[in-house]
This record gives sequence, C-alpha cells and structure tokens, in this order.
Amino acid sequence: MSQRILIVGAGFAGMWSALAAARALDLAGRADGSIEIALVAPEPFLHVRPRFYEPVSAEMKAPLMPLFDAVGVRYVQGRVEAIRTGTSEVDVLADDGTRSTMAYDRLVLAAGSQLHRPQIAGLREHAFSVDQLDDAAILAAHMQSLASLPDSPARNTVVVAGGGFTGIETAAEMPARLRAILGEAAAVRVVVVEQAAALGPDLGPGPRPVIEQALAALGVSWRLGAAVTAVDADGVGTAAGERIASRTVIWTAGPRASPLTQQIPGARCRDGRLHVDRYLRVPGAERVFATGDAAYAATDDLGNHALMSCQHAMALGRNAGNNAAADLLGLPGLAYRQPKYVTCLDLGPWGAVYTEGWDRQVKMAGAEAKALKRMINTQWIYPPPADRAQALAAADPAKPVVA
Ligand SMILES: Cc1cc2nc3c(=O)[nH]c(=O)nc-3n(C[C@H](O)[C@H](O)[C@H](O)COP(=O)(O)OP(=O)(O)OC[C@H]3O[C@@H](n4cnc5c(N)ncnc54)[C@H](O)[C@@H]3O)c2cc1C
Repeated sequence: MSQRILIVGAGFAGMWSALAAARALDLAGRADGSIEIALVAPEPFLHVRPRFYEPVSAEMKAPLMPLFDAVGVRYVQGRVEAIRTGTSEVDVLADDGTRSTMAYDRLVLAAGSQLHRPQIAGLREHAFSVDQLDDAAILAAHMQSLASLPDSPARNTVVVAGGGFTGIETAAEMPARLRAILGEAAAVRVVVVEQAAALGPDLGPGPRPVIEQALAALGVSWRLGAAVTAVDADGVGTAAGERIASRTVIWTAGPRASPLTQQIPGARCRDGRLHVDRYLRVPGAERVFATGDAAYAATDDLGNHALMSCQHAMALGRNAGNNAAADLLGLPGLAYRQPKYVTCLDLGPWGAVYTEGWDRQVKMAGAEAKALKRMINTQWIYPPPADRAQALAAADPAKPVVA
C-alpha cells in the first residue's frame, strides 16, 4: 500500500513544501509512486498576497496545476475542516459539498494566516481589507463605486487602520488609486490611524524617517497613539476622540495563523503559530510538520524567529516538505536556518525602502528600491516553471531565499 505526505495549503509554504517533498523522493530514488504527495487547497493557484494592496489584476494568482503535474503532486480540491493527529487523518470539504477523509503518514500544515478582526464596533460590517484576494476585489469594486457618489470629504477619504508593514504599503498606494477613480482634481485624503506611538512599530527606527518622508510626499497623514474604537459606513472614531469621515476604512492590523493550528496539540504563540523544532516538526504531535505563517520557527541561534512573511514562508516550505519526506524515508532532515533577513517596503509612487538585518538598516530607498520591489513582487515570489528538472532544482532547501 502506498504512503502519503499530505500538505494543507497552496500558498508560498504549501507550494514549496510539495516541490521539496517531490525533490527529496526523486533524490532518494523513490519517485516511483510508492509515496504519494497530495496537496489540499481550495484552489490550485498561488495567491500572491504581497500584491493585494494594488488594484486587482489577473497576475495576482498564478496557476499551479501544470507545475504539480510536472513534478507528480496530486492536487485535492477542498478545505481541511478537521485534523485528527491521534489517527493521522484529516476531513476535507470540497466545493461541491462532498466530504472525505484522508489518511496521512506525514502532515505538513501550510494553511497560512488570516487577518484578525477584533471586537470593535462596526469593524466586521464596515471595514475593508487587503488580506485575501476576495477582500482585495471587494475593496476595488467599492472604490470604483465611489465615482458615482457626490463629492464629499467621506467619499474622498481613505482611512487605513494600522500603520504596520501592510498598512504603510496600502496607504502609500491609496492617493494614486483614489485619483485614478475620482479624477486628478479630487481633494483626496489618506489617513493612517495607528495605536502605537510610532509608524511601523515593528519595523523599528531604521527605515522610519524614509517611510515618513515618503508618506508625507504622497500626501498621506497619520494619527499616532490613536486606536480605532468604532467603524461605521461613514467613518471611524479613535481613542483620541477624533472622528474621521470616510467611506473607505481599510483594516490592516494583526494577522493570525490558520485556525487549523488549534487542532494540533502543541505550544502556540498568541498569534496562533505553532512552535516547531529545528526540523519544523511540531513537538508532541507525531508525524506533523508546520510551516509558513502557521509556524513559529527559530531562524538562527541568536533568538530571531521567522515572521509571517513570504521570505520566510518560501524557505520554511522547502524545509518542511524536504523534512517530511526525509522523515518518512528514514533519512536525516535538514535543520531550518535563515540568518539573512531583509525587508523591501513598497512606498507607492514615491518608491520603496530596502533594509538588511534584524535592525533594518536602510540600504536603498526611492526608485532604486522600487525596482527591486517590482522584481520581488512580479518575479521572484512566483512559482518556478512547470518543468520537472527546473522545479525540483528550485526546491532545494539549502538554497537561500535571499543570498
Ligand atoms: C497585503 C499584504 C502584503 C504583504 N506584503 C509582504 C511583503 O512585502 N513581503 C513578505 O515577505 N510578505 C508579505 N506579506 C505576507 C505574506 O503574504 C505571507 O506571509 C505569506 O503569504 C505566507 O505564506 P503561507 O503559504 O504560509 O500562507 P498563505 O499565503 O496565506 O497561503 C495559505 C494557503 O492555505 C490555504 N488554506 C487555508 N485554510 C485552508 C484549509 N482549511 N484547508 C486547505 N487549505 C487552506 C489557502 O487557500 C492558501 O492556499 C503580505 C501579506 C499581505 C496580506
């Protein structure tokens, strides 16, 4: 009877897990069908989440079926609803309503993360987001509909709630997106509302002057120390007592790991990520690996940990798939290490800022950094060609994402 490596999720981590598992079987001379690699996800497409603050386009999802066919990964349409680590099984609900149970010999949980929407009055009903492709499409349609409304401060204003990485990138895009819809003469206004005392609180002081300079040049303003307390169809209230009239409030604060992480026994962070060992196994959950945004993994011996980022999800994916296959074959795995950390933050028409190191020292800013960001967002994070040899070579877990 054949054995099965089951991967949950077709994001950056899931796709690279599948390719790396296929590579490991190939290298071991076991690509003979005796071990199946199955991947369950709602769609056989890579959703390119880092681009979701842009106007929605067809390029925001990349097809995976030709790639999976080329390397021998079986795609299973559906959502995993339940994971039973005791019996090594998952329950899958397909779009046509069919329910099935799949057994696994090794499980790789790569179900990613979702935006957390806290209990703030009106937030769930009225705030938009750029978290998933559907959210980006709903926001784009709403923004387009603003053109049919009479001119007003609320129509012309976008409030971005949360001044972290995603909030800054989103805010930097909004003046141009609003003008494209409302006309160059419209009195557009974009306000970032951040509860911390500084923009980009998690980004540290390194890139902050560049971010502030760029946002100011784009006409974006910000409120600090001002948590959003209520949202309605016509604006937001803040903890500072301010009311900002806006038809478009975009919530960007705080991703949480997939709720499936709660079905795996093990230690978790407050954001839901499962603690994993150096091989990305979940201690206490036999045969289970977690990866990408679902995993909390040490990147080095200095106390740094992977972030919910593409950069980490790609490397974590390659390691998890490789190690799940190696574990099943009784071969040694490869310890996950990703000591080099960079950020490239899009700052809209102003440019971008590129930093290196965990203290985020600015190495590039403006147009030069923007060219790099474009390369990352339109090429580097996309799937490899649907060619078996090229795809397996690209899935080498020893190959750094950032050299
Ligand atoms: C607007 C925005 C901008 C960003 N910018 C950057 C950036 O500039 N740089 C950067 O490094 N990172 C950025 N990120 C973060 C990055 O997109 C994530 O860290 C990355 O997508 C994580 O990859 P993942 O594979 O772990 O999860 P995801 O990409 O979330 O993929 C999860 C997969 O699991 C599937 N899935 C979920 N639930 C189930 C289920 N129950 N059953 C089966 N399948 C399931 C999903 O459909 C999807 O296929 C950004 C994110 C956003 C939203």
